[in-house]
Amino acid sequence: MSNSLVEKRTGIGSGLAFVVTGPSGAGKNSVIDLVMAQLPQLVYSVSYTSRSKRPPEIDGEDYVFVSEDEFVRRIEAGDFLEHVTYLDDHYGTSRSQIKDSIAQGFDVILNIEVEGAKTLQQIDLGGTKVIYVFLAPSSMKELEARLRNRNTEDKSKIQRRLRVAKQEMKALPCFDYLVINDDLETAVRELASIIVAERVRLS
Ligand code: 5GP
Repeated sequence: MSNSLVEKRTGIGSGLAFVVTGPSGAGKNSVIDLVMAQLPQLVYSVSYTSRSKRPPEIDGEDYVFVSEDEFVRRIEAGDFLEHVTYLDDHYGTSRSQIKDSIAQGFDVILNIEVEGAKTLQQIDLGGTKVIYVFLAPSSMKELEARLRNRNTEDKSKIQRRLRVAKQEMKALPCFDYLVINDDLETAVRELASIIVAERVRLS
């Protein structure tokens, strides 16, 4: 196949950004982890957060964990592409990590809540194509069960996450794709298919 034909595709190596959004507890982390194990040239956007680290999390891999003061300092320095306060904690997407990964030809995958995804839709990422995937739970009941089983929050925090989730579900029409995480394997296959399809899309 000639190179000129290959270049007509958006293609691996041109740096796409895949934003996976949706309610907390829908399974964004699990689906993304499994998709990343399957697909090459995909870099995870490691967000900054001021929330405390949960037991299995690794600083610099799951998040960069910083103090609230450090987070505010970074907002003022313009380090974030977008940032939100979600249930008392701050979360922000690193501008430099996204820029560097895309410049190196990697596709980037972002795991962010809905407000942040909507903010990104208003920002020009220097011509980078951004694809928005909404990952939804099969039902609110299922979401509640997942948040409980996760055992990472107390009852009142789970209730707050559920209230936010109800609002977040309303934003669904803002995005490009819907993946329903009813069955993990199916959700992984669907997200991987979206990524592969976008890579071979004619530019
Ligand atoms: P958790 O505390 O469960 O790790 O994350 C809470 C929510 O914040 C999740 O929906 C997660 O996707 C989202 N989140 C993580 N990092 C970012 C970020 O950099 N920006 C935004 N807007 N949301 C984030």
